[in-house]
Amino acid sequence: MVSPGELRLLIELSEGEDEFTPETGPGGAVEYPTAARLLDERDGEVLDVLERFATRGVLEGEFVSKVYSCPECSEQGMQYTTACPACESAHAVETTVAEHRACGLAAPESYFEREDGLVCPECETSLRTDDLDRREQYVCKECEEVFETPEHRLWCRECLYMFPPEETIERALYRYRLTDDGREWTERHRVARETAADSLEERRFEVSVDTTVEGEGTSHPVHVFAEDPLMGERRVVSVAERPTGERVEAFCEIAREVGAHPIVITTTGAVSEDVAERADAAELTLLSARPDGTLDSEYRVGEGAPRGQSLFQRLTAAVDMPAWKTQ
Ligand SMILES: [Zn+2]
Ligand SMILES: [Zn+2]
Ligand SMILES: [Zn+2]
Repeated sequence: MVSPGELRLLIELSEGEDEFTPETGPGGAVEYPTAARLLDERDGEVLDVLERFATRGVLEGEFVSKVYSCPECSEQGMQYTTACPACESAHAVETTVAEHRACGLAAPESYFEREDGLVCPECETSLRTDDLDRREQYVCKECEEVFETPEHRLWCRECLYMFPPEETIERALYRYRLTDDGREWTERHRVARETAADSLEERRFEVSVDTTVEGEGTSHPVHVFAEDPLMGERRVVSVAERPTGERVEAFCEIAREVGAHPIVITTTGAVSEDVAERADAAELTLLSARPDGTLDSEYRVGEGAPRGQSLFQRLTAAVDMPAWKTQ
């Protein structure tokens, strides 16, 4: 089932900004600010939502960069640092290291400097400046280890742990836009929502599209909410590609909470067996969105044949549902 927030996000890609670009926030975390603003809290992480639609072929992603997350605390945007191979401290800095060729002592040049000239702290020999070989090396300020190649580490700004890059969580970032199929998919769902709203309006309901309804202590985003204040009748509408039992159950629960009759629209014309059973039991009204945008009372169950219309019409009468235009 496409959530109201998800549909909002896809419609924005279809009609407004045509792509969502990742941005790096202050702490290094990755954000899709426009997309995140469009989603509701219950939709979860924006990155997960975008990836899910990309997997389904609704969105396509163009590779932008990668982000690394902390395996300890999941914080995004780890920072690169070099570290000492002996003690793992990041406080290892590139320094000019001087080596006394005769005895082999290697240390920062300042170690050799005395008031009266250069002296090797190891063998106590007075030195001329060309007795020392100089090269750029790392010196650890924690344990004094001198080394040429530091370890590569990623450092977490949140929990302050350091990890080898391969132990962190790597995630590729993409710039997302709708595929041609995705554009059609979005349009199909948007039209189904609008048609449901229009039909309810014709039945003299006061209709709100893409709104929230107040449940018991929580507000729930819904595709359509319709109320007939005179009759005290309420309807909530959910649009789904292929409604599944679990999602429909959650939607019926919301409908119960707000005292509304649930209407589920399938944009593929198919539903799972348990959803059809609920419809048969008049717990909800099930409709199919046809390719031309009209709503139809026929739907397929599982892989089976279309379920009959007469049964549906009886149910429609039983729950005093709007007479959806059929045929
Ligand atoms: Zn060290
Ligand atoms: Zn020496
Ligand atoms: Zn961390």
